[in-house]
Amino acid sequence: MHILSLDEGTTSARAVVFDREARSMGMESAPIECRFPHQGWVEQDAQQIWQAQVEAARGALDRSGLRARDLAAIGITNQRETTIVWDRKTGAPVAPAIVWQCRRTADFCRALTEQGLAGRIAARTGLVLDAYFSASKIRWILDHVPDARRRAEAGELAFGTVDSWLVYKLTGGRAHVIDLSNASRTMLLNLDGAWDAEMLDLFGVPQPMLPRVVGSSEVVGATERALFGAEIPIAGIAGDQQAALVGQACFRPGLSKNTYGTGCFLLMHTGERAIHSRHRLLTTLAASPNNRPEYALEGSVFIAGAAIQWLRDSLGIIKTASETATLAASVSGTAGVYFVPAFVGLGAPHWNASARGSIMGLTRATSAAHIVRAALEAIAYQTRELVEAMEADAGAPLTELRADGGAAANDFLMQFQADLLGRPVVRPANIETTALGAAYLAGLAVKVWSGTEEIESFWKVDRRFHPQMDAARREELYAGWKRAVAAVMAQASSPAAVL
Ligand code: ADP
Repeated sequence: MHILSLDEGTTSARAVVFDREARSMGMESAPIECRFPHQGWVEQDAQQIWQAQVEAARGALDRSGLRARDLAAIGITNQRETTIVWDRKTGAPVAPAIVWQCRRTADFCRALTEQGLAGRIAARTGLVLDAYFSASKIRWILDHVPDARRRAEAGELAFGTVDSWLVYKLTGGRAHVIDLSNASRTMLLNLDGAWDAEMLDLFGVPQPMLPRVVGSSEVVGATERALFGAEIPIAGIAGDQQAALVGQACFRPGLSKNTYGTGCFLLMHTGERAIHSRHRLLTTLAASPNNRPEYALEGSVFIAGAAIQWLRDSLGIIKTASETATLAASVSGTAGVYFVPAFVGLGAPHWNASARGSIMGLTRATSAAHIVRAALEAIAYQTRELVEAMEADAGAPLTELRADGGAAANDFLMQFQADLLGRPVVRPANIETTALGAAYLAGLAVKVWSGTEEIESFWKVDRRFHPQMDAARREELYAGWKRAVAAVMAQASSPAAVL
């Protein structure tokens, strides 16, 4: 039996068919457009999200040479926090999907911060008060779409994140659900895994519009026969980063993965214990295969691989991202150059929205290779800051770091990361861990796989990078980075948000 994984990202909807050995049998993707109607606003068309996902699913089935009746289940993973509100009767969205990156509610969130509510919100939800999460986005729709608030209170409108929307459409409107991992990003769920009356009240979100919270690995409905030619159980749902944690077989406390993409997302499994961060990380629900609340600590870096794109597209000093590995290795160090890529502010653990990027330590001898190397090293330095915050919160050292995402293909970066952490960095054979994680959750629910031990047996190492740098050199380099970040923070137009 096979599993179809739907991976609905920010720029495209992808679909992958996996076999019983977790091998990819066929894959297809379809692009999704983002619209930017005002500065800082980011929107998508929910109908297009749906169309693109169906197109990708049908394409992946075709490519794998399989039919819907060969599928044991569907798993879904998705861009998180993105907010959709639709009419329960017609299924039509009442507003564009407000994408996670959208800053339109930043002023509202700032006002809540000024009222001193950030600490209370963090204690209830595990999240840092920010426009990133869904709650303020729902409120915006209810405040701006005519009659929306009254209709939401009367139960005529439904709210969902992208997983909810896809399940609703796949089941022909029969299921209105959200899984624990996605729900924990709305800022409306408390850490016990229930909608929180205090948060609903604070953000003015009426209870009747909320989806039913379900586990990440259970059958929640079946697809309409007309869509793919057979009814397929929908059996796994997780937000993209929590899905990647499953795809990396991180099922036990302490196991951690870092996804090196546009940004970096580091998640550490903390088991059945929700750890409240003292270092401004997020506490989030993991996608648990046994449907009991399990938790993770999460830290995100906004600009990682994106700095490499910038070197290519804006400065033009490289032609491809992959050539950075050899270029960086062509010099023995950066000769004192530090590149702090705070293009959109700094994320965890600094959370300063007004910080801006900087390249420091330039001399007449600085070459393109030094700058490229400094950009790659910055990815590793930022990751070390997250790792240190996590270890301090968890009270235990990280034993090894599992890497995935596009930039994990860079051998220089992986080696420098191991050197800088003084810990091994492990790159698995399959770095497409997001789609795989959703497939695992679905396959476990319908018993295609017997349990997490079997999943662990699929996880294969491509390469293990062992630390080689001596400790004194490592700490000297890291101290230089800290000074560079301090300089960037000193230059920022406003101080970091206070929790
Ligand atoms: P996302 O899912 O965030 O769109 P991916 O996981 O596909 O990103 O990774 C793409 C990012 O990684 C881009 O920002 C790109 O610049 C960077 N990248 C890709 N390959 C490499 C490489 N070999 N070395 C460094 N960065 C890379």
